[in-house]
Amino acid sequence: MSTELSRRTVLRAGLAAGAVGAAGAAGLGPAGSAAAARVGPAGRGDAASGRGFALTHATVVDTTGGPSRPDQTVIVRGGRIATVGRSAEVPLPRDATVVDLTGKFVIPGLADMHVHSEDMEQIYPPLYVLNGVTTVREMSGYPFLGPWRDRADTGDLFGPRWSVASQIVDGNPSLWSGIPLPHFEVKDAAEARQAVRQAKADGADFIKVYTRLTRETFHAVLDEARRQHITVAGHCPDNVALTEAADAGLRSVEHVMSSWYATSSREAEIRRAIASMVIEPGDYNGWFHKSLPQDWTAAHSYDPRKADRVFARLVADDCRQVPTLTMHRVFGMPETADRTDERLKYLPAATLEYWQWGMQMYTDGRTPQESARERVLVEHRARFVGNLRRAGVPVMAGTEAGTPFCLPGFALHDELAELVGAGFTPMQALQAATVEPARFLGAQHTMGTVQPGRLADLVVLDADPLRDIRHTRRIHAVVTRGRLISADQRRTMLAAVEAAAQAFTPDPAATPTGCACTGAARPTPIAAGVRR
Ligand SMILES: [Zn+2]
Repeated sequence: MSTELSRRTVLRAGLAAGAVGAAGAAGLGPAGSAAAARVGPAGRGDAASGRGFALTHATVVDTTGGPSRPDQTVIVRGGRIATVGRSAEVPLPRDATVVDLTGKFVIPGLADMHVHSEDMEQIYPPLYVLNGVTTVREMSGYPFLGPWRDRADTGDLFGPRWSVASQIVDGNPSLWSGIPLPHFEVKDAAEARQAVRQAKADGADFIKVYTRLTRETFHAVLDEARRQHITVAGHCPDNVALTEAADAGLRSVEHVMSSWYATSSREAEIRRAIASMVIEPGDYNGWFHKSLPQDWTAAHSYDPRKADRVFARLVADDCRQVPTLTMHRVFGMPETADRTDERLKYLPAATLEYWQWGMQMYTDGRTPQESARERVLVEHRARFVGNLRRAGVPVMAGTEAGTPFCLPGFALHDELAELVGAGFTPMQALQAATVEPARFLGAQHTMGTVQPGRLADLVVLDADPLRDIRHTRRIHAVVTRGRLISADQRRTMLAAVEAAAQAFTPDPAATPTGCACTGAARPTPIAAGVRR
């Protein structure tokens, strides 16, 4: 573990761990140790009683893949979906509020499986939910996130259901070295095991592994995590082959890099090149920059027969892919990031400054030829993700929300469109944000579909998402934890987020946050001042 900040983090995380213990004792914690990537089951934050409400005459989109069902009534009570059936046949409870949704479409609440929230409580949590993103997976375990997760579960914070990563577990030296974002740097198996135990004690829902772990430390993390009944997700390390990582139990792989290498006819040559890359500690940009030739080679040496074998292994290992195409487009084609995007009004100036800085840091030193290659790779990547889907590899929608121009909540809808651009049907894209995350989280019987008994997380749309995936952006209302956020309430709450963004002033003592994956660490005074 590194830096002064980490000591403070441990203190804070210790408090968070205490809160988790209390929640567990109250029956709000994980349903069982194996569900350690859990998203909170129904807790006090879920509307537990009251009259409930009935959504009538809506078309229900069946994310199990069946045909949509028109003219349905969905009755919500006690935080759960109580009944779904034909409006003509379902009797309305006498005391229930009735909401006529003629012409509207109901889908399950969406999940963004790769986010990096900033420490802005009045902005990030509501932006997810108001955009229909009722579940998120945080990929960097900042100390404020455990308390957010727990407070949302108890109804103290308006926010999604959270699965929160450990602090990133990377090798030593790490791409994070010298940058005071909370992380573990492990140099041997003993330190790797200790990091896993510490992360679990700190209340992490899963372990996030990272790029510069050695084979020895990577396998030590996986083995210790198995003993501790906690799942592992993240980057496939540079020195571990994808199939080896999947066989060892890596449950989800972020971004496309390692998967590309594994399906290349020139994998051995690529691996040698990667092994010989000299990266200065903390030099993210250097790592990305030096990986570009390998990405280029891999994309141009795709071997379909080898890919068939690799994909079959991923399926057999139940190892999911989270391609984060939204992030890749931003960094691959920075000219497409729209600085005049109207949705930016929901974020404070401090975030936009940090994003500008992150964009610049990432693209620094890129030659015109490299920029041209990056643009080509955006298209190759989409094609690759289409191949994953055709082979039946489970894909989950994740965005890198919180990193440059990946807007919290909004970005998930961008990612759904990216997936359709990669060859997914709209139904398959929806499944990547509903049933696939539910399966991954061990919550397939509680989330991801509109069925009786499921947690009442729903999105009401003005238009059919199966006709055009962009219709998921046309949100009429949201149901979160059994609470209906009507169209009027949603407008009011979005206006409140906008006001909070305008009024936001950065707290120099706040945890610096940023993209663990792309290295866009916020350049706060802390970040500038602390060196190992
Ligand atoms: Zn990330």
